[in-house]
Amino acid sequence: MIIDGKKVALSLLEELETKIKALEKKPGLAVILANDDYSSKIYVDSKEKHSIALGIKSCVYRFDKTITQGKLIQLIHELNENPEINGILVQLPLYSHLNEKEILELINPKKDVDGFHPVNVGKLYAGLNPYAVCCTPKGIVKLLKAYSIEIEGKDVLVIGRSNIVGKPVASLLINENATVTLAHSKTKNLKNHCKRADIIISATGHPNLVTSDMVKKGAVVIDVGISRQGCGRLIGDVDFEKVKDIASFITPVPGGVGPMTIACLMENTYELYLLQNKR
Ligand code: NAD
Repeated sequence: MIIDGKKVALSLLEELETKIKALEKKPGLAVILANDDYSSKIYVDSKEKHSIALGIKSCVYRFDKTITQGKLIQLIHELNENPEINGILVQLPLYSHLNEKEILELINPKKDVDGFHPVNVGKLYAGLNPYAVCCTPKGIVKLLKAYSIEIEGKDVLVIGRSNIVGKPVASLLINENATVTLAHSKTKNLKNHCKRADIIISATGHPNLVTSDMVKKGAVVIDVGISRQGCGRLIGDVDFEKVKDIASFITPVPGGVGPMTIACLMENTYELYLLQNKR
């Protein structure tokens, strides 16, 4: 069965729209774009469009290369203090002259809508409730649940160990009682690890890394990877056409994990608004 990420995301967005309409005031999301990467620009435009459609106040700060670390630090301090802003997102990567780590750590963890602050990462790792959970991993778990795919006790292979996908999705799944293996570019015998897995989650950006001979019959395959081919077409990490005949469930690219990431960002903004407006 092909997992329809667009459909699940749409239903989450519709629920959120109703909840946001019922609020006393609009939640606010600040997005900082300080790089000249084409994909980042597209992602930021999409975040702005979705915020506006849901009734979230969207403030996008777009900077050219003259932006300094000091100015960015000052902006983060202002946004931390601004009661109209509930979520702060720094689109990564930043221009190479900026210190990403310092900027991310300055964000108030209660406004850290991406869940990248060490406080939220630590809470997730410790099985405590983070103020916000990273959007892509959160979206993946929601997709599995939307299709009633059992997680508890399953052997899950996560391919990729980044801080934004691989590691947090592994933590989330451990918290859901899965048995998780985390593979990466230095892993030996990736095929053997894949063959054993009930659920494979691939997040590498390496096209056709997961082929049909690596997948156990009936396994669930979640493809997070996005690569742009010469013609502009997006493809994932998985050889979709062949693996779909072996997997029980599989996500397409595009239309799988991607729409869930943005829907979870909107949900995180709403949830941080509630957290900051608790009476
Ligand atoms: P990254 O470059 O930070 O990490 C890639 C990871 O893949 C690394 O840990 C590396 O060790 C591993 N890897 C690379 N080649 C490998 C190989 N041959 N075998 C095993 N492991 C290998 O990337 P990221 O930021 O985690 O993103 C991964 C992919 O997911 C990218 O294509 C990105 O565009 C995509 N992505 C999609 C969404 C979404 O919403 N759909 C969100 C975030 C990232």
